[in-house]
Amino acid sequence: MVSNILLKYVNKFRNLRVDRAHGAAPNKPILLLALIELIEQGQILENKILPSPNLFEIFMKYWSILTDRRPNLALPFFHLKSEGFWHHHSNAGYETALRVTTQIKTVSRLREIVAYASFDDELFLLLTNTHDREVIRQTLIDTYFIDFKADIESLIAEEQQIDEYRQTLLQQVKQTFSSLQPLALTETDNPIRTAGFRQAIMRIYDYTCAVCQSYVLTLDGESVAEAAHIIPFNISGNNDVRNGISLCQFHHWGFDRGLISFTNTYKIIVSDLMVEKGPSEWKFRTLKDKKILVPENKEHYPAQAALAWHRENRFRE
Ligand SMILES: [Zn+2]
Repeated sequence: MVSNILLKYVNKFRNLRVDRAHGAAPNKPILLLALIELIEQGQILENKILPSPNLFEIFMKYWSILTDRRPNLALPFFHLKSEGFWHHHSNAGYETALRVTTQIKTVSRLREIVAYASFDDELFLLLTNTHDREVIRQTLIDTYFIDFKADIESLIAEEQQIDEYRQTLLQQVKQTFSSLQPLALTETDNPIRTAGFRQAIMRIYDYTCAVCQSYVLTLDGESVAEAAHIIPFNISGNNDVRNGISLCQFHHWGFDRGLISFTNTYKIIVSDLMVEKGPSEWKFRTLKDKKILVPENKEHYPAQAALAWHRENRFRE
């Protein structure tokens, strides 16, 4: 049974004003597919949508299979408002700026002016319902991406597997941490698990390096921060989020080589066994005794056993 409200939005979604001038680059339907996916994953729980790195990443996954044009999340996030069901809410002091702005081309300008966006309340309610959400998703696929139906469906299936694994990892923190969890060899290089671990860590640390607090995200959705294992995966087989930490590429390199490690109070210790030159802000030594960025939720903190393993087995002293 399809409700009138659902029918109303199905019609609106079939008739989005998409830019076809330069060949099909329907970035509004791609944004909507990405939003549907985040709602499905429970990453968007209220009708308050931020141009977040999560959204960026999923938007990019769809973008890369659907078009080879240059991606820009700011465009659909802004222009979707012309459809009438998507509303912008300005940051304090930017009310007038938002009212008179007719175009936003960069994510940084978008973040400056727009605090968040929201759907019509009745539409958001539909999107939180499994059946209605699927009807809307199929409408988008059938209307705009019929030639890519199989690709999109396999992307959705893969994302669901990654998300299930990520949820399993988050559940695991309810149990006592165990350092070594050897997996069957066939499982050691499983891309779904690798991606699930990465997503869990990136979301826990908000794509920020725990050591230097760098946060850099390219327009292609790539992050300078990486999900690092504290006890290396080839030794521990352990994707527990408490065996993980978000580090930028530079600090990941130094951590894996034992040039830095962390105390049981989450302070940085630095090896004396190296020579380093260059500007002081880039030196490992200037990090000594600084506190690392820890997760909001204490259950996600790096495990003491993992940190101790790293100090004993990797740190050079
Ligand atoms: Zn860093």
